[in-house]
Amino acid sequence: MHEFSIVQSLLALIEDYVRENNAKAVTKVVVSIGVLSGVEPHLLEMAFNTFKEETVAEKAQLVMEIEKLKLRCRDCGKEGEKEELNMLCPYCNSLNTEVIAGQDMFLKSLELEVD
Ligand SMILES: [Zn+2]
Repeated sequence: MHEFSIVQSLLALIEDYVRENNAKAVTKVVVSIGVLSGVEPHLLEMAFNTFKEETVAEKAQLVMEIEKLKLRCRDCGKEGEKEELNMLCPYCNSLNTEVIAGQDMFLKSLELEVD
């Protein structure tokens, strides 16, 4: 499953961060998941809960923020969020748009437990 490898790299990243900051553990992990990232939130959560055992993130709560598709229009120059997954400008219906958010999944923030 795609989400398993994502979680493994996420946990590796978290462990590095915890070590660099001399923290004891992680209490909260916030990830941003773009609607076009191809990541299934419930699968990601399941994978996270499976792999976090015996890591620094064992007691961490996973918070998933869904990032909407956001476009910038080259014709009218506006930027807007989309409810539908298509490339039409929400203002002028032009297809001459580019995606500026909603394509990626990334680690947004961490809450660390320190002494
Ligand atoms: Zn437009």
